[in-house]
Amino acid sequence: MVNTTIKTTKSQEIFAAAQNLMPGGVSSPVRAFKSVGGQPIVFDRVKGAYIWDVDGNQYIDYVGTWGPAICGHTHPEVITALHEALEKGTSFGAPSVLENILAEMVIAAVPSIEMVRFVNSGTEACMAVLRLMRAFTGRDKIIKFEGCYHGHADMFLVKAGSGVATLGLPDSPGVPKSATSHTLTAPFNDLEAVKELFEENSDQIAGVILEPVVGNAGFIPPDAGFLEGLRELTQEHGALLVFDEVMTGFRIAYGGAQEKFGVTPDLTTLGKIIGGGLPVGAYGGRRDIMSMVAPAGPVYQAGTLSGNPLAMTAGIKTLELLQKQGTYEYLDSITKKLAEGLLQIAHQTGHAACGGQISGMFGLFFTNGPVHNYEDAKKSDTAKFGRFHRGMLERGIYLAPSQFEAGFTSIAHTEEDIERTLTAARDVMSTL
Ligand SMILES: *Cc1c(COP(=O)(O)O)cnc(C)c1O
Repeated sequence: MVNTTIKTTKSQEIFAAAQNLMPGGVSSPVRAFKSVGGQPIVFDRVKGAYIWDVDGNQYIDYVGTWGPAICGHTHPEVITALHEALEKGTSFGAPSVLENILAEMVIAAVPSIEMVRFVNSGTEACMAVLRLMRAFTGRDKIIKFEGCYHGHADMFLVKAGSGVATLGLPDSPGVPKSATSHTLTAPFNDLEAVKELFEENSDQIAGVILEPVVGNAGFIPPDAGFLEGLRELTQEHGALLVFDEVMTGFRIAYGGAQEKFGVTPDLTTLGKIIGGGLPVGAYGGRRDIMSMVAPAGPVYQAGTLSGNPLAMTAGIKTLELLQKQGTYEYLDSITKKLAEGLLQIAHQTGHAACGGQISGMFGLFFTNGPVHNYEDAKKSDTAKFGRFHRGMLERGIYLAPSQFEAGFTSIAHTEEDIERTLTAARDVMSTL
């Protein structure tokens, strides 16, 4: 066997220093590699489908800064547009035509969106949409699904028990019970559980929020009829349906999961891709609902840097690039090759595994599956995933450092990158 151990001395030094400066040495928890063991590599630069760390090692990247890098990192057209925008100013705190342009693009693309508000992160978009759901319906309760992530706001930090549905108990110290007492949870893909919650809480539920394709519990697609069923149930009970498409928007299809599955929610949250790698978020939907947002209406929500000209510019250019003929066909074909290849290799090397992909989003669980929800996903052999992750990293492949995160490809990934990745996977899986 070849000695694949890479030299990461500088990464180790920098991360050791970081741990004394920032909690866990990071600005966001998963980056610390806690769930896969070992130490994170420290990035120096990114380009196309690749990352270079501070020790000069190169990796094929399947995280893509958690989704935004769908055109590949530092795409030359995005960078050129940013240079031009930079000269005109980094922040206006006032209206700019860039907001109109991106808003028009988002409205044209996403079936549910008739009006949109830009914010600075997916977390912010989800917080704001929750306030709007409650204001519009005059109801307080919401339904979310186990394993779905909607940012780190108090009301969403609910880890459900193993029961069919539980009244939310906070997931983190510092979240008061009162903040999550209106958050009801159900298992993903379980329409019956949602039906029961509606019956038990009649006329009290403002709406249902979900990742239409789950990416924050690993990759879990909706079962046939699930999204349609939620659409019917919410309508029947005078509640709103909200798709959190912060991850899936412009990734599952140009118009997001709602275009792909033909189910139109009332409201949608976006982020990640629409900022083209700069901090951004957005929420939008039906005109009658969005008209309640200040200053058009009474529902307060604001932001000093919202609609930031650099973020708008990177978003506009990224969406333009995605409009090119064949983008999603290409993403689907390379990602299918990757996901099917990984699964086949896992089975050939004797591992229990299941997984899948849609467009440029994929996942692999070390369990026989099928995985329909978070409970199923948790049956994965996470220790094995940790060893797999480490082995791939040592062979120059950067996967998301958790079994419970989806993987992402970009239009910069080549067939050859996929083949190199599968060769590395065969090597690693045969020694797991
Ligand atoms: C990433 C993500 C968020 C949070 O977005 P941030 O920009 O990290 O605050 C919310 N919902 C979903 C589905 C996400 O994937």
